[in-house]
Amino acid sequence: MPLLKIARLGHPNIRSGADAVLVEQLQLPAIQHFIDDMIATMRDAHGVGIAAPQVHVSQQIIAIEVSPENPRYPHQAEVPLMVLVNPKIVEHGEDSDQGWEGCLSVPDLRGLVPRWARVSVKGLDRHGQKVRFDAEGFHARVVQHEIDHLNGQVFLDRLPDLSSLTHLREYEQYWKR
Ligand code: ZN
Repeated sequence: MPLLKIARLGHPNIRSGADAVLVEQLQLPAIQHFIDDMIATMRDAHGVGIAAPQVHVSQQIIAIEVSPENPRYPHQAEVPLMVLVNPKIVEHGEDSDQGWEGCLSVPDLRGLVPRWARVSVKGLDRHGQKVRFDAEGFHARVVQHEIDHLNGQVFLDRLPDLSSLTHLREYEQYWKR
């Protein structure tokens, strides 16, 4: 499986948003191979999520996988691999949490981002079956982060206070708990 090139902030594809995928498109081998390549690229970069626009494809596809052994985000509760097509947040609780986020398209930076603590998500799986699920905590955070990418947004847009922004080495040294 070839690894895909990750677009970084500044590349117009990061800001251009993504189009909805037609269910019939998911039957094409090319899109299934693309999804496999997205997953391989996410794992290779130790990401906990990836969105198609980050690999230069403007379609509404995201993949998420959290392992407690992930070196970029250690000790988070496990989220088994999930691929979501045309995902939407259809409900959220009233509470929000602040948490540290980084992004494969914004290398070497972390910032404190407020996100809904609980969300209900609707979409399709990679085979076009409807899915709906609830997520909370870090899982909810990653889902919101990846859906933002489908709308051309990055976590920096959500920082209420730019003074939390830190490079990774300084994060490890001063802010990691
Ligand atoms: Zn990101």
